[in-house]
Amino acid sequence: MTIAQTERSLGQAFRNGLLCRCPDCGKSSVFNGYIKVKHTCDSCGLELHHQRADDAPPYFTMLIVLHFVISGLLTVQQTYDPATWIQLSIWLPVSLVAALWLLPRVKGALIGIQWARRMHGFGGDFT
Ligand SMILES: [Zn+2]
Repeated sequence: MTIAQTERSLGQAFRNGLLCRCPDCGKSSVFNGYIKVKHTCDSCGLELHHQRADDAPPYFTMLIVLHFVISGLLTVQQTYDPATWIQLSIWLPVSLVAALWLLPRVKGALIGIQWARRMHGFGGDFT
C-alpha cells in the first residue's frame, strides 16, 4: 500500500448505512430520492459511486421480510385458521410496506460494508 490507510469501523459504517447516511461521516443521505445513490457525499465529499450493491439489497430485503411474513402467516393460520382472503389482505400489504421500508436501509448498510472493507474502489488505490 502506498497510501496510509485509516481504520474504518464496520459497525459504525453499517449503522450509518441502516440510517441511509454516508458511511464515513454519517451526516448526509447517501440517496438521491428513494434508492438512487448520490455520486458524492454532500457533507464530506466521499465518492459514493464506487458502491456495487447491485442485486444484493432486494435479495436480502426479501430474505428478511419473507422470514417474518411466512412465520406470521403460519402462526395466524395455526392459531385462528382464517379464510384465505383474510390472510392475503393482511400479509400482502405487510409484505409490500415492509419491503419498501427496508430496501433503502439494506442498500445503505451494504454500501457501508463495502466502504468499511474498502471494496470496489472505496480503498482509494484504484478508480
Ligand atoms: Zn459523508
